[in-house]
Amino acid sequence: MSWKEAEEYFSTHDLIILPIGSNEQHGPQNPLGTDFLIAEAIAEELAKRTGFASLRCIPYGVSFHHMHFPGTITVDEFAFMNYIYEVLKSLSKWKIKKVLIINGHGGNLNSLQILARKAREELNLLVFIFQWWSLKSLENYFNKDELGHAAAVETSLIAYLYPEWVNKQGAIDETPREREKELTWFTYTKEFTESGVFGVSKTFSRERGKEVFEEVLSHLVKLVEEIEKEKI
Ligand SMILES: [Zn+2]
Repeated sequence: MSWKEAEEYFSTHDLIILPIGSNEQHGPQNPLGTDFLIAEAIAEELAKRTGFASLRCIPYGVSFHHMHFPGTITVDEFAFMNYIYEVLKSLSKWKIKKVLIINGHGGNLNSLQILARKAREELNLLVFIFQWWSLKSLENYFNKDELGHAAAVETSLIAYLYPEWVNKQGAIDETPREREKELTWFTYTKEFTESGVFGVSKTFSRERGKEVFEEVLSHLVKLVEEIEKEKI
């Protein structure tokens, strides 16, 4: 968009889509950019289907726990929050009232929730956060062991969206070490899996990726209709 087109957009729309990802290991078979690539693809397709604009993806997130794997890049939570806050503040200057964040990485969630609170209180902006893997209906397509980090569901999505970037021979199945569910503490991925894969990834396929992508998108289109009804 040129600024003229943006001006037109802001005069007729109060909602915009913002994909946010991470750059971190996704097993030996997937690109480091898996989380931002998926978030951006979802956001762009959602924009096409709804007529709302999508911003460019913010590719770096909070990924300290993956830092034993080469190529992972992490951003401190406070730097991450401050940076995105400034993006939201700019949007609010242009009369945006609602931002739908397509979050591609679970490690960003705590920071984004704080931002959603601050944005509402300080910028009069409603921030909605969507994470594709939270969709209950994914269980109709993949079993529990296929839903983990870098497992079949993520690998299938990459195989569908960017087939040339999946290393088929690299797909690995690894049962992660169990952890105490009653306790929360800071842990590194390396303490639970050698390969970076949590569960089964060899069962991935392009076709399965397409199914998940369609499932996520059709659900998101309905969520956008709900978001449109929300009033600040
Ligand atoms: Zn991921």
